[in-house]
Amino acid sequence: MSEYKRPLPQITEYTQAFWQAAKNGQLMIQECRRCGHKQWYPRPSCTSCGSLDLGWRQSSGKGSIHSFTVIRRVVANSPDFQRDIPFVIAEVDLDEGVRMYARVEASPEQVRVGQRVKVSFREATPEITLYTFSPSA
Ligand SMILES: [Zn+2]
Repeated sequence: MSEYKRPLPQITEYTQAFWQAAKNGQLMIQECRRCGHKQWYPRPSCTSCGSLDLGWRQSSGKGSIHSFTVIRRVVANSPDFQRDIPFVIAEVDLDEGVRMYARVEASPEQVRVGQRVKVSFREATPEITLYTFSPSA
């Protein structure tokens, strides 16, 4: 594993279970125990009914690209991103009905709206395993 120098997510009490599962190769989404609403990103309450009674459900990790953008210039204070450009950030609609933002591991020419993608995981540090999506058949 090469050293990962880019900014990393901050683990909070609401995201701890998500990142722990990612270390085990599982993509988790929150599910409301009151109304059944599923959501991403992890947060303290249901965005549909306001309940604080949230659980977790494992996603299949499969979905399709709703929209995407190609990052061709990085102005953030992380020069390590410079090595990655151009790269693709997409809104991915998981098959479970949840939309999430994610990096897509493909050249911009290979990405299109509606394309099927699947999740994969890459260990960044002993604490954080990042998720990305790549085109699937
Ligand atoms: Zn709810």
